[in-house]
Amino acid sequence: MLPRSFITSVVGSYIRPKWLIDAFKAYEEGKMDQATFNEYVEEAVRVAVKDQELAGIDVVTDGEQWRKSFVAFVGQRLRGFKVVHATELHPNAIEIMKRHKAPLTYWRPVIAGKIEDGEIVVDEVRLLKRITGRPIKVTLPSPYLIMWESWHSSISSPHYPTPEDAAFDYAKVLRREVQRLADMGVAFVQLDEPMLGDLIEAGPDEPDRYKRVSSEIYGQRYRGFKDEVRLAIDLINEVVSGIGGVRIGVHLDRWPTDESPVVGYERLAPDIFELKVRQYVVEYAAPRMGDPEEFARLLPSDKELGLGVVDVRSARVETPEEVVSRVEKVLRHVDPTRVWLNPDCGFAPGMYRRPFPRQVAIEKMRSMVEAARRLRERYWWY
Ligand SMILES: [Zn+2]
Repeated sequence: MLPRSFITSVVGSYIRPKWLIDAFKAYEEGKMDQATFNEYVEEAVRVAVKDQELAGIDVVTDGEQWRKSFVAFVGQRLRGFKVVHATELHPNAIEIMKRHKAPLTYWRPVIAGKIEDGEIVVDEVRLLKRITGRPIKVTLPSPYLIMWESWHSSISSPHYPTPEDAAFDYAKVLRREVQRLADMGVAFVQLDEPMLGDLIEAGPDEPDRYKRVSSEIYGQRYRGFKDEVRLAIDLINEVVSGIGGVRIGVHLDRWPTDESPVVGYERLAPDIFELKVRQYVVEYAAPRMGDPEEFARLLPSDKELGLGVVDVRSARVETPEEVVSRVEKVLRHVDPTRVWLNPDCGFAPGMYRRPFPRQVAIEKMRSMVEAARRLRERYWWY
């Protein structure tokens, strides 16, 4: 049973133990068989779930332990995609990422055929359901993200003349997967949409850093701010319209630098509220993210706010009272039954990023859970 207010969750990925990363390497080099590899991942999922359960998180994930990064894994599981090194997409790919200060994972999905329906994460969910009795959240890469990060002007165009063609096909495939997850009793499906989140830093005619990188590496073209937002919304609605029995949210991931403007998700309003999703999973704990009250003020009354209240890029552990005051900022506009507490982002979005200390992640989750408890006590009448 979920609490009525201030539900706690995580955004997706969790720290991968060193032995899991070694197992991935051995498996990929053909030095470990499938069954042994599966045992390693299963153990890692158990650790990720146990850490969340012990911290008291209400809605848990498997920590994305089966995936090397939050996007490339789709390339390994769906027909129509393949995974290649970034330099196969563009010989200067790494230099381009550095120049724009927009690091993408080096192993990248690319559309190299017709995208076919197939199970993407059903096996992950089967395992997770055996491990925990708690409500579960599953994350999936959203179609606007997949479009920008997998349609390549020469590799993909024989199969899909435009990025939009490919993205709508992927959206239809994703829709079937979301329905399967709903049928399996998944509590929350979260569509990860950093490419939409990053638009916050784009200008009317100037792409944000990540679109610049993708434009150069994949050979795509920025459509202008308004049309990009419109396309992202149409694609996501193609996935989720009319699907029932599961809570659907969109995670508007961001990765600001020291030079980024201080602005929040209000930049995407009012169009962003046309998304037929229930929850916006947003980042507000890190610096330069803007003021959550600005977004909360505009949030329609049938939508929920998955508020980022602890920073996943800083090792300083927020106190429960600090988290409480972050949440209270939005309570003038959004009632407690519609506010969820989560970290800004996953603790480990890619396997080869600098590892986040596990003990810090645990303490941050505990702080969040304690804050939720104090908030429920303070707003007991909800
Ligand atoms: Zn994120």
